[in-house]
Amino acid sequence: MKKRLLIGILACIISVAGYGFYSTGSANNEASNVEPQIKVEQPVEAKAIEDKVDKEEVEEIEVEEVAPATAIDEEIPSSNFSLDQIAAYSGSPYITVNNNIPYFSDEDKVRTDAFEIFSNLDSLGRCGVAYANICKELMPTEERGEIGSVRPSGWHTANYHEYVDGNYLYNRCHLIGYQLSGENANEKNLITGTRYLNVVGMLPFENEVDDYVDSTGNHVLYRVTPIFEGNNLVASGVLMEAYSVEDQGKGVMFNVYCYNVQPNIVIDYATGESELAAGATSVQEQQVSTDATEQSQVVDFVLNTNTKKFHTPTCGSVSDMKDKNKQYFHGTREELINQGYDPCGRCNP
Ligand SMILES: [Zn+2]
Repeated sequence: MKKRLLIGILACIISVAGYGFYSTGSANNEASNVEPQIKVEQPVEAKAIEDKVDKEEVEEIEVEEVAPATAIDEEIPSSNFSLDQIAAYSGSPYITVNNNIPYFSDEDKVRTDAFEIFSNLDSLGRCGVAYANICKELMPTEERGEIGSVRPSGWHTANYHEYVDGNYLYNRCHLIGYQLSGENANEKNLITGTRYLNVVGMLPFENEVDDYVDSTGNHVLYRVTPIFEGNNLVASGVLMEAYSVEDQGKGVMFNVYCYNVQPNIVIDYATGESELAAGATSVQEQQVSTDATEQSQVVDFVLNTNTKKFHTPTCGSVSDMKDKNKQYFHGTREELINQGYDPCGRCNP
């Protein structure tokens, strides 16, 4: 009886020390010196608190020194998903899964408490599922800090300046976006993601959730699961699920898989190594072909026959134009330029 009480007290000391793990740096060592044979189950709340400690101090700690890699946190309910359901990437940044219906449990779909939980890194240093109930109280109030100290699994600095918009193939890609969670240099929330995954794939969904929570003050259950094949260090993609709680998914509901790919680049997902694809077209070449398409598109213009400028129909200059000089034109930009017209500098048609 007395002994059990003592162990109970020790467990309390250890878990309190655990809260301060990042903030004091030495607390973890103290904790493991106390009574190494006692295994303390750290409650989920403690993990969430641990993740929310002072970000500046997290940045100073080398990733290798942070928490020993352990199994994926079993407290976080996982999605009923397998990569077998997913067709190979074919030009669309994402694909809907399970008819766009997320896999949240009925109990979770009525939760209105704020939470955010992150899996511990696994033995290969990889992130696991991240789960949150997004609401105004989780959203950041401070400017985003530096995240360059975190090296997610498979990380390489790979500059393809002519072939990748933004130059770098990989971004430190937040699972739960910073704009939603305020979580920044948390290594349990950052994966090696392509620029394309980050900006074209995930960002529009993050914005949708952000806009909805901003305008309603409601909660959105939000879960992002990086999907790794075998022992690959770079995720093949991420599963993103969301469900707005107060209106039963009417405001926001999705279940999508976003591909961690980059047009023009071939990625070795086992290691993160990459190379330029055969026949890759540079960003500049892609722009030229887009411009060529625009040049030859048949649309409406308004011409000023006096100044020899052409405008979009909505340009402010059109209403100022004298009727005798005004002429409507349905055709291509190319034709107008061949007729000696110049594009208006204001509406840039
Ligand atoms: Zn104009």
